[in-house]
Amino acid sequence: MTTLANSFSAASTAPAIIVPNKDRPLVVSYQNLYREVTRFQEKLAKVGIKAEAAVSIALPNSYEFIVAFLAASWQRAIAAPLNSAYKQDEFEFYIDDLKSALAIVPRGDFGKDSPAVRAARKYQAAIAECYWNGDEIVLDVREDGKLRNQGDRAVETATSDDIALVLHTSGTTGRPKAVPLSHKNLTRTMKNIQSTYQLSSKDRTLLVMPLFHVHGLLAGLLAPLLSGGSVIVPPKFSAGEFWDQFITHKANWYTSVPTIHQILLRTPLPTKLPKIRFIRSCSSPLSPKVFYDLEKAFQAPVLEAYAMTEAAHQMASNPLPPEKRKPGTVGIGQGVEIKILDQEGQEVPQGSEAEICIRGENVTKGYLNNPEANRTSFTKEGFFRTGDQGKKDADGYIVITGRIKELINKGGEKISPIELDNVIAHHPAVAEAVSFAVDDELYGQDVGVAVVLKEGQTTSEEELKNFMRSKVAKFKIPRKIYFTDVMPKTATGKIQRRMVAQAMLKKDE
Ligand code: ATP
Ligand code: MG
Repeated sequence: MTTLANSFSAASTAPAIIVPNKDRPLVVSYQNLYREVTRFQEKLAKVGIKAEAAVSIALPNSYEFIVAFLAASWQRAIAAPLNSAYKQDEFEFYIDDLKSALAIVPRGDFGKDSPAVRAARKYQAAIAECYWNGDEIVLDVREDGKLRNQGDRAVETATSDDIALVLHTSGTTGRPKAVPLSHKNLTRTMKNIQSTYQLSSKDRTLLVMPLFHVHGLLAGLLAPLLSGGSVIVPPKFSAGEFWDQFITHKANWYTSVPTIHQILLRTPLPTKLPKIRFIRSCSSPLSPKVFYDLEKAFQAPVLEAYAMTEAAHQMASNPLPPEKRKPGTVGIGQGVEIKILDQEGQEVPQGSEAEICIRGENVTKGYLNNPEANRTSFTKEGFFRTGDQGKKDADGYIVITGRIKELINKGGEKISPIELDNVIAHHPAVAEAVSFAVDDELYGQDVGVAVVLKEGQTTSEEELKNFMRSKVAKFKIPRKIYFTDVMPKTATGKIQRRMVAQAMLKKDE
């Protein structure tokens, strides 16, 4: 039986975690990581954490985060990582939604009465500060909340069907949905990612994605740990420090969203490029333009993958060896069955577009407290409906053409915003383009586009429309193009077309 408690080596003296530091990095071997998680599990048990208790972890990327997360899952509790930069309302939403028993916050948060602390108190979650004191990771309970009189419980042993993690979806198409993921779901994804990229103890990755999202947690941390490699863990992504961290700690791959790749493309390269085995891109569409720019600049193959919270992250990826990659596709199912199904659940002919549906040991059993979504999300054969539209090419590679909920419906003509983004991105003055639906009296919906220009470049709405006219059908030409200095994004750097539309339409008021 595989669980997070037996999915990495307890004996190896190789470095598991490296926390970069100005003076001396903190290097934690597998052996020491194992011991520390065991000790922290005992601390959680002692304060009253038991099976099924939700533990909200509002820590930045750190050694403490990793230990708290693993220990909670080993104790059969439900780890619920939260973005430590949330505002109080957001903390309240998540802490209440999960009925958290305990909120783990950074040192000093209690005295500051931080937003996480106030939110936890409102819902009577216990509050504990957590920090590395140079010798061990401390769990300092500052308020008992619901855990009062529940101390000194036994250390438990997790089973593969226990829920180890609950994360919310990004909320791109509506209210974020709570996704429970079992040890089995998580370890399946870890194995799938390990085999996709042939990860081994020789690999080192620089973690630039936040751990409160499946991308960073599964691809950036847990799959490398399963493989026996090393994970370099700065508190967050810093373009200015990226190459220094990458080179100093001998990383040979990284995974991130396209936004981060694009920021890195605008950052000066080191004088001598390190050897990069591959770059993984996931979670948002990677335009072929950025794909080629990245491969050229970093001299490394780019492998685009496709993932979602409900699948414990990855479902498809471009495979190795690198010759097999195909830009503009997200590759093939990796330990996950993928079918393109119509509304009735019938597979469509190869090349036709319909909904991407998935089945595998990594996929959640269903959302928490959301029977309506659970009823409509699974087919009779047990395939999960992703809400994404796509097709398979002749080699079975998946091309995502849009999200069903984001397709722009112009008088019955469906327009894929991703297609338009990619066309406009090729204009030499354009740094970034995001298309979205705007309400239209005549057509119901029409196209709007938000554009960020490259520094020092100018163009006009008319010129961009002319550029598009040579590349796409007339009905896809936007009604309006908005020029903006910054593109609104989520905390993980994902584009929310709804959010962009709202911000741009405000400019019209
Ligand atoms: P919500 O479900 O709340 O609307 P969300 O779907 O954005 O939010 P996540 O689970 O974080 O929440 O994201 C999964 C989605 O991200 C996928 O369904 C898909 O639309 C998109 N995605 C992931 N990888 C890619 C990719 N390589 N290219 C295009 N889209 C991708
Ligand atoms: Mg989704």
